[in-house]
Amino acid sequence: MLIQSFDRIAIPVFVLDKEHRIVFWNKAIEAMSGLSSACMIGTRDQWRCFYASPRYCMADLMLLEDPISHLETLYAGRYRKSDLIENAVEASDYFPEIGGGRWLSFTAAALYDAQGEVCGAIETLVDISEQKRFEQMLQEREQHFRELSITDSLTGLYNVRHLHEQLRRELARAVRHPQGLSLCMLDLDYFKQINDRYGHLLGDRVLEMFAGVVRTSLREADLAFRFGGEEFLLLLPDTSAAEAFLVAERIRQTLELNTALSAILEGSVEDSVADLEQGLNMPLPRVTVSCGITEYRPGDNEKTLIQRADQALYQAKGAGRNRTLIG
Ligand code: GH3
Ligand code: MG
Ligand code: MG
Repeated sequence: MLIQSFDRIAIPVFVLDKEHRIVFWNKAIEAMSGLSSACMIGTRDQWRCFYASPRYCMADLMLLEDPISHLETLYAGRYRKSDLIENAVEASDYFPEIGGGRWLSFTAAALYDAQGEVCGAIETLVDISEQKRFEQMLQEREQHFRELSITDSLTGLYNVRHLHEQLRRELARAVRHPQGLSLCMLDLDYFKQINDRYGHLLGDRVLEMFAGVVRTSLREADLAFRFGGEEFLLLLPDTSAAEAFLVAERIRQTLELNTALSAILEGSVEDSVADLEQGLNMPLPRVTVSCGITEYRPGDNEKTLIQRADQALYQAKGAGRNRTLIG
């Protein structure tokens, strides 16, 4: 009757005697492992269900002198006491050997004889692969929505919401480690004319193209934001104003030389601008950008830093556009 009960439990279960030999190996664990009770009972081969080479299972540890120290070694930080069963422990793990890889949650408990001595151990297993898959999907979705929430949809650069978060963080860092933090404000020149002349759609594509130029000009730690319509902001940690100047100039010059506009209009970068202009019977838009740079100074806050970069940009515009100035 007892053996029959184990076999009629729908959850994988096995029982060991105090010599670590398998006493029960129920139908559900047969199905999960593909190992029959006929070949398992009487052996110490319980590891074969879970691992490629011999090692203790959790139930084995319950038979040892000091189970906790062994648990600490084999399941450090990953096991906990069962809420339901006294003197039982549980853990979960991924088992690549089982059924093409499964997540299992397992509980092991010692069994006691009439004298209160440990006489065996029982382990029950629950397949939590579906739950894990679901959790992972939720995490990925959360990550995806988080990325969407901080990304500007047209350019793929970060949006203003993220700017405030990052600027606050970088300012706090600059106060602690004053190793230079620079801000660069960029604004496309006469952009209204591009829209008016070639249409808003082409204007959008210019913004996308410009974002591409920005992206390829930055280092790993640099952050680029779309600040407004055709305004962008770079946050450059560990960067002096002089170094930021070089970054901005690289962007400005790349844009100036860029034949990508011909590609935008014709879907090709091979044709020369002159050929395209002839074909289109109009001059191609030449897009340029003005840049204002400033470096963190003690006492700065978000507002003063942005204001100074904006001021430098304003001066670059006033001085004839298509240039970079440090403020
Ligand atoms: P300046 O050199 O002084 O910066 O001149 P500007 O024409 O670039 O500046 P202004 O601020 O007068 O015009 C900005 C233009 O940018 C106006 C607006 O229609 C355009 N713009 C803003 N956001 C977008 C957008 O998402 N797509 C397109 N196509 N145009 C945009
Ligand atoms: Mg502009
Ligand atoms: Mg503007």
